[in-house]
Amino acid sequence: MANRVDARQTVTAENQRTPQAIILLGGPGAGKGTQAREICSHLEIPHISTGDILRSNISQQTPLGQKAKEYMNRGDLVPDDLIIDMVRDRIGQADCQGGFLLDGFPRTLGQAKALGGLLQDKRLGSPMVINLRVSTEVLVQRLSGRRICPSCQRTYHVTFQPPLRSGICDTDGAALQQRADDREEAIRERLVAYDEQTAPLIGYYGNEGRLFDVNGEQTPQLLTSELTRLFEVA
Ligand code: ADP
Repeated sequence: MANRVDARQTVTAENQRTPQAIILLGGPGAGKGTQAREICSHLEIPHISTGDILRSNISQQTPLGQKAKEYMNRGDLVPDDLIIDMVRDRIGQADCQGGFLLDGFPRTLGQAKALGGLLQDKRLGSPMVINLRVSTEVLVQRLSGRRICPSCQRTYHVTFQPPLRSGICDTDGAALQQRADDREEAIRERLVAYDEQTAPLIGYYGNEGRLFDVNGEQTPQLLTSELTRLFEVA
């Protein structure tokens, strides 16, 4: 069963100090990227976002990017073998020795099983898994209004978090863009992929006993403080 997190619930000192893998689960638009950045700067561990790595491969037109592009633009998942190789490479790098956070991986049961093997090879125990719980209705609202600055990656929402000048990044003045997979059709596909392939991971990790289920519909700031408490030493 998942742990419902409240202010009194914390991981132990031992868990915090031992290098570990942290997994952020949640639907598309659940706020994984935003929270991942906060957690990683708090714990000083690398943030590994498979979506970001894929998008950077696409913009650099690498062979991986060329293979992944069509799946992503449709809102489908990229095949497991490509993703698993990509993650194996990334977590093999020196900066991951003290632990790391995975954002957007694993997304299928196959990926979760492969990750288990990779963690064993690295002598890391079972991962700490945080599920950001957000209803489908809220996910759709968030994704369809999301806009991104192509130069600094800052994200906005046309209604909930608009820039000072419509369509322009407050930080660097670049014209904001909509991600190709934030268009309505692709959003629908991503939600189907999430329900069918990723949501079952909540049960999978729930059985391992290190799953923390948090309300992802609170403000980003409140959510960050709830997650930060989770890492405080008891
Ligand atoms: P979101 O969580 O908002 O959907 P991401 O940036 O994490 O956005 O992912 C964007 C897209 O990248 C996904 O829809 C999928 O096509 C691809 N992708 C990212 N991570 C994975 C993964 N672990 N397995 C398969 N496809 C992935």
